[in-house]
Amino acid sequence: MLSSTLALAFPLAVKFLLDAAFVAGDRHLLDRIALGLLALFATTAVLNYIQTYWLTATGERTVAALRRELVNKLLEMSPGFWVHRRTGELTSRLTADIGLLQGILSHQAADAARQCLALTGGVTILTLMQPKLMLTALGVVPLVIGSAMLFGKRLKRITTGVQDHLAEATAVAEEAFAEIRLVQGFAQEPRERARYADRIGRVITAALHRARTRAFFFGAITFTTFSGVTAVLWMGGRLVLSGSLTPGEMVSFLLYTISIAAAIGALATFFTSYQEAIGAAERVFGLLEMESTVQDPSDPVELAAKPRGEVEFRNVTFRYASADPGEPPTLDDVSFRIRPGEVVAVVGPSGAGKTTVASLLPRFWDVERGEILLDGIDIRRLRLRALREAVGVVPQDPTLLSGTVRENIAYARGDAPDADVEVAARIANAHEFIEALPDGYHTRVGERGVRLSGGQRQRIAIARAVLKNPAVLVLDEATSSLDTESERLVELALERLLSGRSTLIIAHRLSTVQRADRLVVLDQGRVVEEGSHAELLRAGGIYARLFQMQFRDDQAVTEALSAMRVIRDEGR
Ligand code: ADP
Repeated sequence: MLSSTLALAFPLAVKFLLDAAFVAGDRHLLDRIALGLLALFATTAVLNYIQTYWLTATGERTVAALRRELVNKLLEMSPGFWVHRRTGELTSRLTADIGLLQGILSHQAADAARQCLALTGGVTILTLMQPKLMLTALGVVPLVIGSAMLFGKRLKRITTGVQDHLAEATAVAEEAFAEIRLVQGFAQEPRERARYADRIGRVITAALHRARTRAFFFGAITFTTFSGVTAVLWMGGRLVLSGSLTPGEMVSFLLYTISIAAAIGALATFFTSYQEAIGAAERVFGLLEMESTVQDPSDPVELAAKPRGEVEFRNVTFRYASADPGEPPTLDDVSFRIRPGEVVAVVGPSGAGKTTVASLLPRFWDVERGEILLDGIDIRRLRLRALREAVGVVPQDPTLLSGTVRENIAYARGDAPDADVEVAARIANAHEFIEALPDGYHTRVGERGVRLSGGQRQRIAIARAVLKNPAVLVLDEATSSLDTESERLVELALERLLSGRSTLIIAHRLSTVQRADRLVVLDQGRVVEEGSHAELLRAGGIYARLFQMQFRDDQAVTEALSAMRVIRDEGR
């Protein structure tokens, strides 16, 4: 406000300066006014420095806060949300869309406020000085506003297109990077290159369309405002000729008109940037206003500090939101129990719903009907954090985060002492290979742990679970076959992890379920049989048939398994 007010004083000072020189012929006055002008500009310079720094800082902080909020929100979203979103698209929202808001938040909005001040100030002073000239100057305003509205809407639409295409392009690239082995393994680089080039081509087409629209708009605005300036010059010239205006007044008038014209031009430009940013803001705030389908309860029930680890699925029916409502549910009236310390394996043909059962327990999704109980409490009544601390998941293909081996093991407990981390690693049969790494526990593993073998990654994941020490363990058994040596080490590690802990095993291979106390056989989302391995074989139902079938294929594996048991017992 200060610097705009000072800027308003400039034409007035020029008027005095010129009139001092041309009309009054006063040398001293001229000198003083010139010095005064210098002082004016020096003050403006300081104010501009403060303004630029403060506004930029505000803009940067606001953008950073928005980014943090968006990341917080995305981290809260349950997996159901992520199924339908591509990470690349979300990354683009986080970077490009919020980036688009940066300009408007830092200098443009403030600039617009300044221009508003310049405009009202200029118009007021001019109206006081020369109402007639003022009317001439204001003649162009409706034209400017009209075209700003028209172009603003268009630019918003086009910019939304640009940002959407950009998000799409980012998603395509991100997918290709994430699955680089697949892409290269199938020699599909040209296809991915073409896919990306096509999406980027769309970005460029839309961006050039925007550039043409903007260029046309700016041309039109410049022409309109300077037509106004010309009209003022013409009218003013006539007033000077008729002697009712001094040359100093005329020049100051002209300067005001130009600053008004500049203000109008800048406001029109601001309006279009604003429209463009609004599009981006709508998308960002759309994401910020989402609610995760899985929510913390408003009046949570406290879970015991040391949960017993009793799990019960009671008449659980579930279907994925994306599934056709006419289809039968993914899980249909599923009931079973895991007593404290018991190991229960869910088996069944592929697509039966085994993985779904496992993802309902940590509440990645909520059941449609029925309930899941932990220590007798409906898990929807527990704090998500408490529930997820009590339930540990060892995934099929464990991912390592970028960081050191230690950080990966101590993921759930960053403050765990080194000794605990090492004990966990020993239990997981991982200590020896970790010690052999270049920096031991401080060796950095790649973004996805690419430098470790599958078996090693799995043992780190087991160590992670050992250290977390959850009351209930969900073990998604690896389908990928490890080499015999790794498999033996992993099996031993699992054996230790499972002992005395309630465990839900998602068994993809029947040969490995014999370690379970009880089996729950799922078929098409329903529990069809339940019992121990021996009981189920005797009963001769679907499990027995599945087992016979796999047994023939998997005889070698089963033999290896019994060999493993012998080795394990020796190890003990
Ligand atoms: P399993 O682990 O026994 O092979 P899943 O639990 O993975 O079976 O899948 C059960 C059914 O649910 C399948 O028909 C599968 O296509 C479907 N399904 C799995 N995940 C999703 C998902 N995120 N969205 C929609 N349907 C899914």
